[in-house]
Amino acid sequence: MSDTDGKKTLGVRGPRSGSVKQSFSHGRTKNVVVETKRKRVVTPKPAAPKTSDGGGSKPVGGDPRKRPAGITDAELERRMKALTAAKAREADEARAREADEKSRAEERERRRAEIEQKEAEEREREEALKAKAEEDAKRLRDEQAARAKPAAPQPTPADVEAKAQKSAKPAPNRSDRDTRDQDARTAKPKGADDKRRSGKLTVNQALTGGEGGRQRSMASMKRQQERARKKAMGQSQDREKVTRDVQLPEAIVVSELANRMGEKVSNVVKSLMQSGMMVTQTQTIDADTAELIIEEFGHRVVRVSDADVEQVIEQTEDTPEKLTDRAPIITIMGHVDHGKTSILDAIRNARVTAGEAGGITQHIGAYQVTSESGMPLTFLDTPGHAAFTSMRARGAQVTDIVVLVVAADDAVMPQTIEAINHAKAAKVPMIVAINKIDKHEANADKVRTDLLQHEVIVEKLSGDVQDVEVSAKTGKGLDSLLESIALQSEILELKANPNRSASGAVIEAKLDVGRGPVATVLVQNGTLRQGDIFVVGEQWGKVRALENDRGERVKEAGPSVPVEVLGLNGTPEAGDVLNVVETEAQAREIAEYRQKAAKDKRAAAGAATTLEQMMAKAKADEDVAELPILVKADVQGSAEAIVQAMEKIGNDEVRVRVLHYGVGAITETDVGLAEASNAPIIGFNVRANASARNTANQKGVEIRYYSVIYNLVDDVTAAASGLLSAEVRETFIGYAEIREVFKVSKVGNVAGCLVTEGVARRSAGVRLLRDNVVVHEGTLKTLKRFKDEVNEVISGQECGMAFENYEDIRKGDVIEIFTREEVERTL
Ligand code: GDP
Ligand code: MG
Repeated sequence: MSDTDGKKTLGVRGPRSGSVKQSFSHGRTKNVVVETKRKRVVTPKPAAPKTSDGGGSKPVGGDPRKRPAGITDAELERRMKALTAAKAREADEARAREADEKSRAEERERRRAEIEQKEAEEREREEALKAKAEEDAKRLRDEQAARAKPAAPQPTPADVEAKAQKSAKPAPNRSDRDTRDQDARTAKPKGADDKRRSGKLTVNQALTGGEGGRQRSMASMKRQQERARKKAMGQSQDREKVTRDVQLPEAIVVSELANRMGEKVSNVVKSLMQSGMMVTQTQTIDADTAELIIEEFGHRVVRVSDADVEQVIEQTEDTPEKLTDRAPIITIMGHVDHGKTSILDAIRNARVTAGEAGGITQHIGAYQVTSESGMPLTFLDTPGHAAFTSMRARGAQVTDIVVLVVAADDAVMPQTIEAINHAKAAKVPMIVAINKIDKHEANADKVRTDLLQHEVIVEKLSGDVQDVEVSAKTGKGLDSLLESIALQSEILELKANPNRSASGAVIEAKLDVGRGPVATVLVQNGTLRQGDIFVVGEQWGKVRALENDRGERVKEAGPSVPVEVLGLNGTPEAGDVLNVVETEAQAREIAEYRQKAAKDKRAAAGAATTLEQMMAKAKADEDVAELPILVKADVQGSAEAIVQAMEKIGNDEVRVRVLHYGVGAITETDVGLAEASNAPIIGFNVRANASARNTANQKGVEIRYYSVIYNLVDDVTAAASGLLSAEVRETFIGYAEIREVFKVSKVGNVAGCLVTEGVARRSAGVRLLRDNVVVHEGTLKTLKRFKDEVNEVISGQECGMAFENYEDIRKGDVIEIFTREEVERTL
């Protein structure tokens, strides 16, 4: 701290130990570790090279007590991962708060001990001085006759103070002026004042009696007097003053702090300045600094966290009598091509279609069927393990039962094992569906014995895992599968309370053209109703409409019922928890708090990457390099698949690190984060909005668009191996805006467009963008200028376009025209 020596910092004592002796206007002095606290505020990252400008020579980062909650960078990163998990996060934060509380308590304890020790020392010294003072006084009396002569040993201020405490004893021996003061003093009843007077007295005495060479001792005397005075005053004030419980959030404006303490703002500012914080009343200070100030003023600190806004979410446990049975929620897992989708389809069609004409088109990522015995069963349709794991990582454990699909003509495969591990990790019971039993080469027993190796012992081999032979193709065994599930769920005794405000988990969310953000929510407890106000992850909303798994409008959805929720103000993420709250203000407040928290953590992660990158650069090619990327995709499933694929890329030298991923158009925020981390942005079937595109151009942030996951993996692999900039595969050559849609007989829908950028070329590839999301990719059937078929239309001209095999074009859509180039690899 460079201003340690400055005159503003009073009472600095001792070497640069990081502890500062502070004197505050309300009298108490204490030894506090202001320096380290503030240092943390100025340069939050101890590892950052900037740290040196803090000037501190003490390695403060190393002392965990001085960091909030003992957070290391690594932990920050770990938390970053968990951050979208509402529950996990809450748990984390609760833990962090606890740790924080604990470390603060320790800190307080330590400080108190220090203060006590200091005070004890002080007392000891005073005692000694008092004794000496008496001696002095005696001597003074002796010397009274000589009068003109000052006391042989110049009394130290403490001496004098001690004398004062011993009441008027020496006073009669003093000069006239002293006596006058003395009279005034005795007239005053208050001890505190008394002492101050006595202080003045000594100064005066020093002045009167002091000739040259007294300056220094006077200054030190003054200081000591001041301290004694403050101490005395503080003691007396503590009694008179109202001690307040001061609610202290994570950051507070100085004037508000003064307000909450019931102190004058100017005093608070002064106090801050004395501890070296040059702030004005409108500035915000952090909780640690504020806590010091609150204690200096003798109030009690009550830390409140911003996270407390979440407390409005109803957390009460349901008593057993309120609980009723609910449907089990089933996730189907297994190796690719073993027939997960086929089984889901077969079950749905077998159980739902009965009695319904036309069959059911899949509407949302979950559906409910009823088993033959009448038990409702909810199937989650979210693709594969990624969703299961990532939802679990966010704390949303929605699955009650896992159906492990293993093809009887194949064997236990890598993803089968993965699925087993996931189910085990989540402690979710499993039922094995041995599929494709209709095939000649099917060998169900091989599957059973294979599973033994992975500690899955099926019933047929006297284990306790139910196994059912099925065929998605012929429908054989599907009913037994459902009955097995029903049986398993009876064992689990799944219950919920439908008569409370709803909570649930997002199993899929997307930005829907026309309807805005929509989320498929699985209600886990309570009943979700139209008009309910809710918060979901970092978003909030009011239920405008609910649609069930058949696309029908419903008024409410009870436990274990999947519904599509309309009326969100933003797109949440799969695994986000939805909670109904009472007011819009609460919902908004919670969402804003979560957004801010997430942003802070992302920023921290971004900053960390910059640093790591710098290090990587410094170390040249010697160590593991990292290629940070951002991923935005059209749906959560793709985003997660990409993240998984990306994280697999890499070897001993390089590694891909997904800084952030999400659903929806690429925004300025994404560009900001990418810029900070020097990362490219991957847009999978989404585009940057206009402002993001501009910013990216300005800042030199690379945005790459993909619609085929393999191309993306290839490119990133190439980029990662040597971190070379991969060759561009696609070039956008133009954009056109659809102004009007005409229905032309035999041709179909034709778009009347204006080419807004570049050229439209008939031979080129085209994509249809709606709200920056790719809704179709293909080729042009026609490109017309007036009545003529043309090869090219340039920017500023109008034209007619129609897509090959695609009719759903709308006014306002944007057509992107691109060419694919042969890529030359330089590997
Ligand atoms: P997923 O990747 O696990 O979702 O597997 P799919 O459901 O897409 O099925 C992969 C392939 O296996 C498809 O071609 C299905 O037609 C076929 N298939 C699925 N179940 C059966 C079955 O019971 N019998 C036969 N013969 N083929 C099946
Ligand atoms: Mg599938």
